[in-house]
Amino acid sequence: MWETKIMATLQFLGTSNSTPDLEHGNTHMLLSIDQHNILIDCPGDIIQRILKMHLSMDHITELILTHFHPDHVGGVSLLLMDMWLMHRTRPLTIIANRHTLNGLQNLMDASGWHSWPNFYPVNFVAIEEDIDIHTPIYESPSVKITTTFVNHFLPTNALRFDFVKCGKAIAYSSDTEPCQQFIDLAQGANIVIHEATGASMGHSSAVDAARVATKANADELVLIHYEKRGEELWEMVREAQQQFAGPVYLAYDYQKIEITCKGKTGFLVER
Ligand SMILES: [Zn+2]
Repeated sequence: MWETKIMATLQFLGTSNSTPDLEHGNTHMLLSIDQHNILIDCPGDIIQRILKMHLSMDHITELILTHFHPDHVGGVSLLLMDMWLMHRTRPLTIIANRHTLNGLQNLMDASGWHSWPNFYPVNFVAIEEDIDIHTPIYESPSVKITTTFVNHFLPTNALRFDFVKCGKAIAYSSDTEPCQQFIDLAQGANIVIHEATGASMGHSSAVDAARVATKANADELVLIHYEKRGEELWEMVREAQQQFAGPVYLAYDYQKIEITCKGKTGFLVER
């Protein structure tokens, strides 16, 4: 019904694996809630994508980076520089594990950012290696974001968003092999967003993602970070669907998940 109030949106800005094409940018997304726009990873041409959503760069309040691979952080130094050139004054908070923060700081040092005059404040918040799945890395009256380290080539964080006023939750795997840590983090989530690069070291296939979502008792599965295209992509969804009782969806660039407080899961997914 119309009065269903949308309390947050999670919009996919890219859905591809590391090799994008005309329709699929590298995987990253934007969580919008309570006047905050939290960017999750920043692979590349972020300004164009933000403008396309009728937002300005000043609207980005926090940046969460899942790991220091170029298809997830390749655009961060440009983002930081462009925010400065666009005369940003409000602080930016960057949340990531120490490996990622060190990599980013080295990159920015190499760019000479300390000599850029009137640079806005950047707050680095480190995710410690021993963090447990209940300790928030970000918290507001409406959302709690928690994390776990998953099984990828370097320190990598999966994320869980709990919309506390509604009791709804979304979990995002980032890049990982199927792993118990993510199953624990994602337990009972309404939507599991899982990478489906393909079965290889450090990654998961769509079938792996479906099995993980089943073990996590999720209601819905969204496949992202995929390599396949065309008919092979739909075959991948069909294979995953055979392993998961709930609906399996494919994430598209600019697709938005609307988080509402009503309904069985309360999610309205634009497809
Ligand atoms: Zn990746």
